[in-house]
Amino acid sequence: MSENKLLAHLRATIRADGPISVAHYMGEALLHPRWGYYPRRDPLGRDGDFITAPEISQCFGELIGAWCAVAWELMGAPTPVDLVELGPGRGTLMADALRAIGKAKPALIKAMRIRMVEASPALRVIQERTLSGLPATWHDDVSSLPPGKLLLIANEFFDALPIRQIARGPQFWHERMVALDEAGGLCFAVSPAPTPLGNAIDASLANAPPGSIVEIAPAAIAIVRALASRLAEDGGVALIVDYGHAEPAAGDTLQAVRAHKYADPLAAPGEADLTAHVDFAALARTARDAGCTVHGPATQGAFLTALGIEARVDILARNARSPEQAERVRSGARRLIDAAEMGTLFKAMAVAHPSIPPLPGFEPAD
Ligand code: SAH
Repeated sequence: MSENKLLAHLRATIRADGPISVAHYMGEALLHPRWGYYPRRDPLGRDGDFITAPEISQCFGELIGAWCAVAWELMGAPTPVDLVELGPGRGTLMADALRAIGKAKPALIKAMRIRMVEASPALRVIQERTLSGLPATWHDDVSSLPPGKLLLIANEFFDALPIRQIARGPQFWHERMVALDEAGGLCFAVSPAPTPLGNAIDASLANAPPGSIVEIAPAAIAIVRALASRLAEDGGVALIVDYGHAEPAAGDTLQAVRAHKYADPLAAPGEADLTAHVDFAALARTARDAGCTVHGPATQGAFLTALGIEARVDILARNARSPEQAERVRSGARRLIDAAEMGTLFKAMAVAHPSIPPLPGFEPAD
């Protein structure tokens, strides 16, 4: 097996500067321009490492497209409007959503500009192919999106953003770092000095017992803060779908997945997908503080059911070319909504300008 160049680079960094934060590690492992995970590959699908809702069932993107059409009406049908997707993977969700929008609300197709926020050059190429012929533009990050009214979607984007971990010691909070073991491999080590990050954790976790690990997601919070201030100023909505918890929770949720199996997150940096649970409560608090209303979170099962996934599946199954294809349609949709699969762990949450009335799929906003 060839030498892992990112591991060699991280080892040199740690030897020179000392242990690095989990966020530093995650950022390099996922997005290092030469040796990072995303910039070089298509990680999705059966031959890749993991699979996401839009790759499981076309219903997912279609229902989100229909949701966008209603949200746009509730915004007052502004023209122009930016339809933005964060971390679009293969572009499948956007393609399915556009098909549904074209049917439900052709006027929105005319009014919108498609903007894809994607850090990976390899995935951009695939997205361009998926959307071929459509007038889309690509952005490296949300900070380069021009001002204006927004309809934004993000599926399994926030779980890929770097987290920091803090561990409760007998007296203080200490940051959990990535260090070197005696053999020169990567290992976790708790920093001996207390960390002021203890002040950043939710008050309900402040008295967690020694040994507890609490995660904070500065990158996710910064993006939601920027988006929410924009939404509060210019108008619009953002729909976030991801896996994670609705209430603050302690626990180490950093996970690596390679070829559809869990792996050691430190074993092969850049070769496995790394994600962590999304803390919806922290994102909701950030959005409210920036002047937005928060709708949900609802479980993905409840959200898709309220949007009519069952009726959509019936139509697709009826029009299927064979009984086997009809069964594939049904089992794909079940995977999205079943509690034992993605139905409960995954959540949907919308962040909106306060003038926007209750949005489909959610109980009335708080
Ligand atoms: N939304 C897609 C893909 C999810 S995988 C789906 O549901 O299938 C995560 C996506 O986010 C990939 O496209 C990845 O390249 C992108 N990504 C990860 N970190 C990013 C960052 N910091 N900025 C922009 N895109 C990022």
